[in-house]
Amino acid sequence: MEIRDKIYIDGSWVTPGTSEMIDVINSGDEEVFAKVARGSSQDVDKAVSAARNAFESWSRTSIDERTKYLSRINEGIVARMMDIATVISKEVGTPFMLSQLIQVGLPQTTFASMEQVAKEVEFEDHIGNSLILKEAVGVVAAITPWNYPLHQIAAKVAPALLAGCTVVLKPAELAPINAFMLADIIDEVGLPPGVFNLVNGPGTEIGEAMVKSPGIDMISFTGSTEVGKKIGALAAQDIKRVALELGGKSATVILEDANLSSAISGGLFMCYLNSGQTCIAQTRMLVHRSKLQEVEERVAAETATYTVGDPFDAMTRVGPLVSAKQRDRVKEYIKIGESEGAKIVTGGAENPEGLDKGFYVKPTVFTNVNNSMRIAQEEIFGPVLSIIPFDSEEEAIKIANDSPYGLSGAVWAGDKDHAIEVAKQIRTGQVEVNGGAFNALAPFGGYKKSGHGRELGKYGVEDFLEIKSLQL
Ligand code: NAD
Repeated sequence: MEIRDKIYIDGSWVTPGTSEMIDVINSGDEEVFAKVARGSSQDVDKAVSAARNAFESWSRTSIDERTKYLSRINEGIVARMMDIATVISKEVGTPFMLSQLIQVGLPQTTFASMEQVAKEVEFEDHIGNSLILKEAVGVVAAITPWNYPLHQIAAKVAPALLAGCTVVLKPAELAPINAFMLADIIDEVGLPPGVFNLVNGPGTEIGEAMVKSPGIDMISFTGSTEVGKKIGALAAQDIKRVALELGGKSATVILEDANLSSAISGGLFMCYLNSGQTCIAQTRMLVHRSKLQEVEERVAAETATYTVGDPFDAMTRVGPLVSAKQRDRVKEYIKIGESEGAKIVTGGAENPEGLDKGFYVKPTVFTNVNNSMRIAQEEIFGPVLSIIPFDSEEEAIKIANDSPYGLSGAVWAGDKDHAIEVAKQIRTGQVEVNGGAFNALAPFGGYKKSGHGRELGKYGVEDFLEIKSLQL
């Protein structure tokens, strides 16, 4: 069993203020496979003070110097790709191949992209007699969730460090080991002490202590809308800057003339990805009423190809959910859907056959769904799809926008320009047009209750910059 009994503060692995450990559970077999140290609020104070002390000199280093460290961190991730992918497949349940591609590939790309991004960010500008300077915000508290754990860490740590900020990271309790592995890499590349610090522990204690700490200038949070609200309210007491990446309930809009087979394949992939534990999961499929029956049949047939099972089995397309709590929550939503009058096309709340250990749920598709039902309005965070019919394009756009969230979505149409016109009317931070691929340099973030601020690429760095005008 892997034991990580130290946390990373001021450039060293140190014993935390409490001897309590947190169990890390293998989502595929429900066994404890690792134990990690749990920090205390005194550890938060130490980490924040180390980050404060490091800020002055780190923020004055050249962009070139910071980029070199970030490139070396990228190399460290590449060298450990298989180990990190293995750990995340155990922690989260992501099928191993997808873990390599997404759970490790994406954070690696983010660190690697910083060299290019550094050239794109305008750290200086001139307006009339003024010199405009973009300067590091200061000490950043990064608080991250478990679903794409290292990606969400990289999306904060890489741009914050490039901007000249120093960081205190608190990873999710359910998937913390990858964060310890990143700290190993950061230690090896010799980042100056205090520039990056890792304190592990429960959000209500460690996370809140970070948000309240007077030494923190900005909180960059990814997680649920509920916790985002709390953090926003707490941070407002000290007018701290906050970036929030929150939940979603995205719609795949399939217009009448779309290529049905591509649209269904694309939509299902984006619904079942990571067992639906994806903030940009496309969990509502909006289809023209004339195509409803055909879509139901095709979706049922294609869902049958999403084999559920052990994340380390090469045949598996849908692994377990992250925890017993998450599995029970998703099953509860399937029951809620049935009690609301929606009809199950395939799947259901009972265990997938032969999988009695591990947090497995059957990919489940509902039809007869009205967009006002709870299964269409609330984020389930599991492999559950709602098919919703529309009679006109205007109605499709209205339904897509009838959501408290505004994170993502997709539009499929026979003509790309037509799809773009529809995509412009969808009130979300990103929209896939006819299956356009995820772009790790394009700004990522939400409208409405999906949060504010943007991550990734040059916009992601700008979130960590203050703007100063010198009048000359
Ligand atoms: P969560 O909100 O429960 O926890 C996220 C992090 O916040 C964890 O590290 C947790 O310990 C910490 N936390 C919890 N309570 C806290 C508090 N009171 N103060 C400070 N920190 C606290 O979310 P989760 O269950 O880990 O992740 C799932 C959620 O994250 C989903 O809603 C999902 O949509 C969202 N998410 C959003 C994005 C995005 O980019 N928009 C990406 C991934 C996940």
